[in-house]
Amino acid sequence: MASFILDLDGVLRRGSHVIEGAPELLEALDEYVVVTNNSTRTSEMYAEELQAIGLPIPSEKILTSARATALFLKENRDYQTAWVVGEKGLLHEIRSIGLTITAGCQCVVVGYDRTLTYEKLETACLAIRGGAEFIGTNPDLTYPSEKGIIPGCGSILAFLQACTDRTPLVIGKPNTLIMELALEMLKDKDVYVLGDRLDTDIQAGINVNLKTILVMTGVETEDSVNSSTIKPDFTFETLDDVRAFIRQS
Ligand SMILES: [Mg+2]
Repeated sequence: MASFILDLDGVLRRGSHVIEGAPELLEALDEYVVVTNNSTRTSEMYAEELQAIGLPIPSEKILTSARATALFLKENRDYQTAWVVGEKGLLHEIRSIGLTITAGCQCVVVGYDRTLTYEKLETACLAIRGGAEFIGTNPDLTYPSEKGIIPGCGSILAFLQACTDRTPLVIGKPNTLIMELALEMLKDKDVYVLGDRLDTDIQAGINVNLKTILVMTGVETEDSVNSSTIKPDFTFETLDDVRAFIRQS
């Protein structure tokens, strides 16, 4: 059987609500990695949170954009210092690879940050202008909250891009870096990408030549699917339909 790269929000859960068929789907899969662009929590924090709502996913199978960014830096750069614009999860992941968080830094790592301040942006701006590498965890301009659509990591990156005239290297979906790291975590290289968003999940799968499955449990509608130029290999209404498809193939 093939292995799977799964999205989290809109596929396995919506807030604290487990999407119908998610536990059964996870049970039916031999091998999978859950990949999320959210950088605010560590994989361990996610595993605990998901366990509490009835989705037992071990932390080793959860790749957040925060962990992916830390893994990317560990494998591809030789930095000792970083400045982080981000929340607890990202700070923890960057510290866990041995980097010291300081204003006089070799790289600036930016994630989604609900504790954003002018001082954090000022320090990031000065560091990038002084030659530090500019890295973003994920490109999402907005974030769907209970209040409505609010600024996401991509909007913070846009702010820093405006004041530094530099373009960040972005790790998360639809970019290939996070997908390549997810592939390293899977033994079976016959991989399907399963997601609820065309412009992140499905585009990410297409960018690394994997088979893609769109499930209509999240953000897409019949209209948005019909009007998009991004075409998944398969589209299913429910996770039970996905499970039936896996059983047959
Ligand atoms: Mg999603």
